[in-house]
Amino acid sequence: MPFKRSCGFPARACALMLALLLFASGALAEPGTLEVAFLNAGKADAFVLLTENSAVVIDTGENSMGDALVDFLLERGVSRVDALFITHFDKDHVGGADALLAALPVSAVYESACEKDNKQTRQYREALEDQGLTPIALQENMALEIDGVQYAISVTNLLCTGKNASNDSSLVIRVQHGQTRFLFAGDAENDRLAELLREGGLACDVLKVPHHGSYESLSSAFFQAASPTYAVITSDEEHPEDETVLHILSSLGTTVYLTRLGDVFCLSDGETLEFSQASA
Ligand SMILES: [Zn+2]
Repeated sequence: MPFKRSCGFPARACALMLALLLFASGALAEPGTLEVAFLNAGKADAFVLLTENSAVVIDTGENSMGDALVDFLLERGVSRVDALFITHFDKDHVGGADALLAALPVSAVYESACEKDNKQTRQYREALEDQGLTPIALQENMALEIDGVQYAISVTNLLCTGKNASNDSSLVIRVQHGQTRFLFAGDAENDRLAELLREGGLACDVLKVPHHGSYESLSSAFFQAASPTYAVITSDEEHPEDETVLHILSSLGTTVYLTRLGDVFCLSDGETLEFSQASA
């Protein structure tokens, strides 16, 4: 469903109209498609992946994002989340998880094995307990398939100590739908980027740029290895992405979307990708 070309209304209105149509049919997305929503959550990550019969959430934004994330899911007719991934425990990734867990049943929760003690993580743990859920702290790479979409999750072998340990513990998630490939790089900083470059298999069509668009000395090598057609950056006005990051991506011919300008929607039919953006 090419939102922009066939709908003729602003992207958000088209997404809502599609949602209402699908809601009536009981499907979360058109059969055979994968819709990825990169929500405008400020300098924070909150992503929803929908197929006809599945809903997956990667990170949940700040605490204040929880209700908006739940509203988005309910608006799209989601009554169960098949998988929730918490890439790491910084408040801009785990913050909204307690609201999500309280509002909707979640079949499986996968999290970084590098524990962190902060208020948002404690609230997340309480919400898990309230729901009787045991999260799976990933110690090694894992792959799973959900409604025809392949998820390959890469874990770090770095130690859970040091200045950037939390960011560098980010689960990195490769998503493949037919021929289209997405790479969600969490908040990976230099050491994790080095690890990912050694691991390989970074080529993708859509890159969720690591760490809100912060520049690292390995950024250039990483972007070249990924060579994405599209990139999504989750920065905000106060903490914008680095100009150098934009410059490198532009030199690779990558089209960049900033979630601070509005929710970004990407629709895959397994072969081609269609992007649209809501106004902020
Ligand atoms: Zn972050």
